[in-house]
Amino acid sequence: MRGNPKSKSFRSSRVAPPNRNLQLAHFDLLITERDLAESKLKASEERFEMIFKNLDVGIWSMNFPSMEVVFASPALEKLTGYSIQSFLTGEMPWSKLIHPDDYNEYVALQQKLQHGEMIQHQYRIMDIHGTIKWIEDKTFPVLNEDGHLIRLDGIVQDISERKRYEERINYLAFHDYLTELPNRRLFDQRLEELISNYQSDRDKFALFYLDMDRFKFVNDTLGHEIGDALLREISQRLSSIAGNKAVFRAGGDEFTIIQLNIDAMDPVMFGQEVIHEIEKPFEIEGYELHMTTSIGISIFPDNGETLKMLKMNADAALFRAKELGKNNVQLFTKSLNTESYKRFTLESDLRKAIPREEFILHYQPRVDTLTGEMVGAEALIRWNHPSLGLVSPGEFIPLAEETGVIHDMSDWVIRQVCQQLQEWKEAGYPLVPISINLSEKTLMKADIVEKIKRKLARYCISPSLIEIEITEDSLIKNEGTALATIQQLREMGLAIALDDFGTGYSSIGYLKKFKVDCIKIDRSFIKHIDDNIEDSTIVQSIILLAKGLRLKIVAEGVETLDQWEVLKYLNCHYIQGYLFSKPLPAERLAQLLRLEKLLPVPDVT
Ligand code: C2E
Ligand code: CA
Ligand code: CA
Repeated sequence: MRGNPKSKSFRSSRVAPPNRNLQLAHFDLLITERDLAESKLKASEERFEMIFKNLDVGIWSMNFPSMEVVFASPALEKLTGYSIQSFLTGEMPWSKLIHPDDYNEYVALQQKLQHGEMIQHQYRIMDIHGTIKWIEDKTFPVLNEDGHLIRLDGIVQDISERKRYEERINYLAFHDYLTELPNRRLFDQRLEELISNYQSDRDKFALFYLDMDRFKFVNDTLGHEIGDALLREISQRLSSIAGNKAVFRAGGDEFTIIQLNIDAMDPVMFGQEVIHEIEKPFEIEGYELHMTTSIGISIFPDNGETLKMLKMNADAALFRAKELGKNNVQLFTKSLNTESYKRFTLESDLRKAIPREEFILHYQPRVDTLTGEMVGAEALIRWNHPSLGLVSPGEFIPLAEETGVIHDMSDWVIRQVCQQLQEWKEAGYPLVPISINLSEKTLMKADIVEKIKRKLARYCISPSLIEIEITEDSLIKNEGTALATIQQLREMGLAIALDDFGTGYSSIGYLKKFKVDCIKIDRSFIKHIDDNIEDSTIVQSIILLAKGLRLKIVAEGVETLDQWEVLKYLNCHYIQGYLFSKPLPAERLAQLLRLEKLLPVPDVT
C-alpha cells in the first residue's frame, strides 16, 4: 500500500497532527477502510465464484420445511446435467435423481436430519442422460434455538471413478487376471459355503481337480506367451461346456470345477466330456497344439466331510489319473489312499517344513549303567506335519535323502542343537554332550566340517559338547571321504559314535581304522539279551572288543529291568532306552539337567 496517497497523508498527519487535520484524517481513514472492505468483499466473492465454478464438489443449501433451494453450486449441473435454475426453482427435486434401488435407504436416512444428526452416505443417481453415477452425499442439518430443523446444507461428490476402482480391486482379489476365471480364494469360499449349507443328499456335490498334461512342455518350448494364450483358450472351453457348473483356476495349469446336482449328470461322464473337449486341437498363433488333461473327482460328503479331506481326496484321485498314464478321469475310492500318493504329498510338504518351522528336536538321555546319571543326550528330529501330526524320522529321512532336503535339515539340526546348548549354558544348567545323527549324504558333503566349525563358533559352544553319530554302513560305503571327515571332526575336539553297531559289517578292522570314540549297540541285539544266549554272547563280545580298543559302549533300546540287569553284569558303560526315558522335548530335558542330571531309577515289574 505504499503508493496509496491517502494512507500516506494519514501517516504524515501522525507525525505532526494539528487538530483539524486529525479529524480530516480520521474521516479519510473511515472511507479508506470501507473501500478496502468493499473491495476485499468483492474480490472474495469473485474468488468464491471461481472456486464454486471449478469445484467438482456440488454444494447446496435449502430452507426447511419449505424445501426451497437457496443455493446450488455449478458442479451440481455438471454432475446431473440439470440446470442450477431447475434446482433453485424446485422444478427438479434431488430425490427424483436417486436410483430406485437406493431410494428406500436414502429416505430412511433422511430421518436422522430431523434430530440434528449429520448424514453421510453413498448411493447411485441417474443423470439427465440416464447415466448411473455413484455419489457421496454429506448433509448437515441446522437447527434453531428451539431445536427445530430450519435449514439443510450439503455437499455431493461424484465417486463413480473410485467405486469402479474399488470394484476392480475387489474383482481381482477373487479372479485370476489371466483367464478372468474365479480364483482359488473364491473356490475355497464357495466350497465352505456349500459344506456349511449341506442338509440332505440333494446337496451332494462333486469336486473336480484338473491338471493339464505336459503343459510345462508347451511353456518351456514355445514360451510363456503361447502358454498364457493356451490357458485362456482352455478356460474358455471349460466355461463353455461347464453349463451351470462353476469353473475356477486353481493356479498354473490347474483348474477346478464344482458340480452341484450330481444326480442329474454322472460326474465321471462330465469328466469324460471335459477330456474330449480338451483333446480337440488348439490353434494358437499359427501352432496347432494337442493337449490332454487328467481329472480327479471327489464327492461331498461321501469322499470327505471336511474341506481339507475333500480336497485331499480329489488330489489323490488326480494323482491316480496321472499314474494311470494321464488323459483320464478317476473318481476317488478308499483304496486310492495309496503309499505312492502319501509319498507324493509328503515329498512336497517336506520341502516346506523348514521355512514353516515344522521340525522339532527331542532329546533322549543316555545314562550311566550303574548310577543312572545322565551323561549325554541324543538329538532326534521330529516333523510336526500340519495335518498328519508328528511324523517319525523313519518315514521322512529316506525321503529327505532322496530329495536332497536332508542338507538343509542337517544344517537346521546342527544349528538348533548349538542354539539350545547356548541357551542352557546361559541359564546356568549343568550341560551334557549332545549327540547329533549325521546321515550318509550329509557326511559326504565337502563343507560339512566347515559348517559345524562355524556353528560352534557362532554359538560359543565347546566341541567337547557335541558328539556325531554315524552309522556303520555310511562309513563303509564311503571309506575315503568318511575317514577324512571323521579325522577332521575329531581333531576339532568332537566325539564320534558308531551308530547301529552290529547291523552292518561290524568289522574289527574298520573299528581300528576309523578311530571312533564310542559304539552304540543296535537295539536288535539288546531286545533279547535277557533270554537269547546268542544275542547276549554277541553283545558280550562287542563289549569286550570295544573295551580292548578303549571305546565307550552304549546299549540302545533298553526297555526292561532284565535287560538292564544283564547290561550291568556285562559292564556296559551306558544305556539309552525307554526304560529310563523316551526322547523328550527340550524343556523336559532342561528339567532333568537342573535336577543334577539324575534320572529316577525305573521301577518296572
Ligand atoms: P537311531 O539313531 O538309532 O535313534 C534311536 C531310535 O530308537 C529313535 O527313534 C528312538 O526314539 C528309538 N528308541 C530309543 N529308545 C528306544 C526303546 O527303548 N525302544 C524302542 N523301540 N525305540 C527306542 P527315532 O527318533 O524314531 O529315530 C529313528 C532314526 O531316525 C534314528 O535312529 C536315526 O537314524 C534317524 N534320525 C533321527 N533324528 C535324526 C537327525 O536329526 N538326523 C539324521 N540324519 N537322522 C536322524
Ligand atoms: Ca543315533
Ligand atoms: Ca541307533
